[in-house]
Amino acid sequence: AIRCRAAVAWAVDKPLSVEEVEVAPPKAGEVRMKIVATGICRTDDHVLKGCFPNMDFPVIPGHEGAGIVESVGEGVTSVKPGDKVIPVSLPHCGECSFCLNPESNYCLKSHFSETQCLLPDKTSRFTCKGKQIHHFLWVSTFAEYTVIPEYAVAKIDAAAPLDKVCLLGCGFSTGYGAAVNTAKVKPGSTCAVFGLGGVGLSVVMGCKAAGASRIIAVDINKDKFAKARELGATDCVSPQDFKKPIQEVVIEMTGHGVDYSFEVIGLTDTMTAALASCNMNTGICVMVGVAASGSTISIDPMLLLSGRTWKGCLLGGRKAREFIPKLVSSYMQKKFNSDLLITHTLPFAQVNEGFELLRAGK
Ligand code: NAD
Ligand code: ZN
Ligand code: ZN
Repeated sequence: AIRCRAAVAWAVDKPLSVEEVEVAPPKAGEVRMKIVATGICRTDDHVLKGCFPNMDFPVIPGHEGAGIVESVGEGVTSVKPGDKVIPVSLPHCGECSFCLNPESNYCLKSHFSETQCLLPDKTSRFTCKGKQIHHFLWVSTFAEYTVIPEYAVAKIDAAAPLDKVCLLGCGFSTGYGAAVNTAKVKPGSTCAVFGLGGVGLSVVMGCKAAGASRIIAVDINKDKFAKARELGATDCVSPQDFKKPIQEVVIEMTGHGVDYSFEVIGLTDTMTAALASCNMNTGICVMVGVAASGSTISIDPMLLLSGRTWKGCLLGGRKAREFIPKLVSSYMQKKFNSDLLITHTLPFAQVNEGFELLRAGK
């Protein structure tokens, strides 16, 4: 076992506690890696807030990291010690019907269909003070070392700067992929992006890269507008500046609504608003935000009857073990600059400060 630090969530609504943990060696088919850097995604905050009642505590959250393989278990062939890797929260077993389908990325052998909080063999590699600690999405990047199934590890360019490309482990790939893969934004089209956090700003970058001519950025925090404009937004609006619903504002701005809309907040009201903001014929609305477990939405079915498409995607809509290394290569070739999304860099011991900055909209 390796003794190292990890940020443990002992219970809902408690700050993370940086503890010494023991990380057991990888079993067959597993990889133990050193996490060099990790981002904070709002989904980690959803865990701490108790939005997922099935989640088992204590747990080590974090799922947007990058690092170096330390050792591998029996039978592991795709990576070796010393390789730079990004752990992916959506695995790719390569054998199930969805892995064999080129159009899908939701592997049936993932923690979503088995258990979210233990490795595939239903045990944990983490212990702290003699207690078993749970894994999160099989990746748990808020630990200096973590153990991950081989089929949830993506090998990346050996020259990639880990403190920068860690963002490609979730936020950037999710948002950029939602625009280019799931919506398939066309040149000259119009887009609306609801929510300008790390993920929403990455959607803006994806829309811009795909050649959208107009990108309407929507957020209640106007401090986000300058960055959104820098990344490609052409219009920035706050729903709080209008008496009428924001979807009516977007429809007035564009005539009949945008070609593509994206919900990147995780609230059912803004999901409905985003749907109504795309045009009634060919409009495509992509749901990216994660609502609390058990949430429901009621809509007027006419919204879809006239031809709109409503869809969602996880981790950019493509098989992450293939898509993320390609994005890392594009980053190295300077095809986009995800560094612009980095607002603060903190030492691991200040992980709770990172969450305070996230909650404060900074
Ligand atoms: P974030 O908190 O950084 O950003 C959310 C933004 O929404 C903030 O700028 C906030 O001001 C804005 N906002 C909040 N309420 C609003 C409202 N009523 N109207 C307009 N804007 C509002 O979050 P993030 O890390 O960018 O993540 C965004 C969402 O995406 C979260 O729900 C997260 O769980 C989800 N997510 C999904 C996937 C996926 O694979 N589908 C992956 C990563 C994150
Ligand atoms: Zn995430
Ligand atoms: Zn699979």
